[in-house]
Amino acid sequence: MAATEIPKRIKGKVAVVTASTQGIGYAIARRLGLEGASVVISSRKQKNVDEAVQSLKELGIDVLGVACHVGNADHRKNLIKSAVDKFGRLDIFVSNAAVSPSTDPILTMSEGALDKLWDINVKAGVLLIQEAAPHLAEGGSVILISSVAGYNPQGHLAMYGVTKTALFGLTKALAAELAPNVRVNCVAPGFVHTHLSDFIFQHEATKEEVKSHTLLDRFGKADDMAAAVAFLVSDDAAYITGEVLPVSGASALLKAS
Ligand code: NAP
Repeated sequence: MAATEIPKRIKGKVAVVTASTQGIGYAIARRLGLEGASVVISSRKQKNVDEAVQSLKELGIDVLGVACHVGNADHRKNLIKSAVDKFGRLDIFVSNAAVSPSTDPILTMSEGALDKLWDINVKAGVLLIQEAAPHLAEGGSVILISSVAGYNPQGHLAMYGVTKTALFGLTKALAAELAPNVRVNCVAPGFVHTHLSDFIFQHEATKEEVKSHTLLDRFGKADDMAAAVAFLVSDDAAYITGEVLPVSGASALLKAS
């Protein structure tokens, strides 16, 4: 969709998106900004933050950039505080950061990789939502970015997938804790070519196999995920909470084996 045709469903709202200087997070920040929100983008490296801020400003988006490693408690506090200090409110929080440090089977995965998966993909999101929750305005929204790998964790993505399954449960639990003023939903992307998924795209056979296992016969685009998030945080989804929306072209991973 051309930027000029994008609806302005969240004009005046303030959105914080983690891990948003490239990939799916950047596309989410861009889409929310084009829909009229002020956006707070973040990632570990200041240089990436500065570059992403610049490119969003060039699109006319009201944006603040804050360096934040989601695994660092001071960074988490500073991210939420900076957003509230700058914009005076918080309406939308998108927990997007995740890592995939190992493709080993669960039975042989190192403790270090297990810790990293759990700390970044699950625990950091919970701790950030604890920071954000007291500031979320009535009518606000939290979005967790999971994965289709969460439905049927297996193979190279098994333990990563398990952390994404945990987000399905977290969505339900947090929706209950934050109701009725704040909605909590989850988007489960299919495969999108980004830095995180590059290992799949490096192998032609794996890539073709993954693609052939979607009904729509193509990979996802970061903008497909951003459009789903924009819908869920808008008033068009005002009666939707505690739900998981797969955006995967009907990936075969949605089915249990
Ligand atoms: P990506 O392109 O690899 O995203 C990288 C972004 O995350 C960069 O902005 C990076 O910037 C930042 N980042 C990395 N580690 C971080 C940390 N510890 N704290 C804060 N920022 C960090 O990833 P993606 O593919 O867009 O994935 C985004 C989300 O979608 C993840 O939750 C992922 O699990 C999910 N997902 C992706 C796919 C896919 O096929 N790509 C499929 C299903 C689900 P810095 O280097 O500056 O930190």
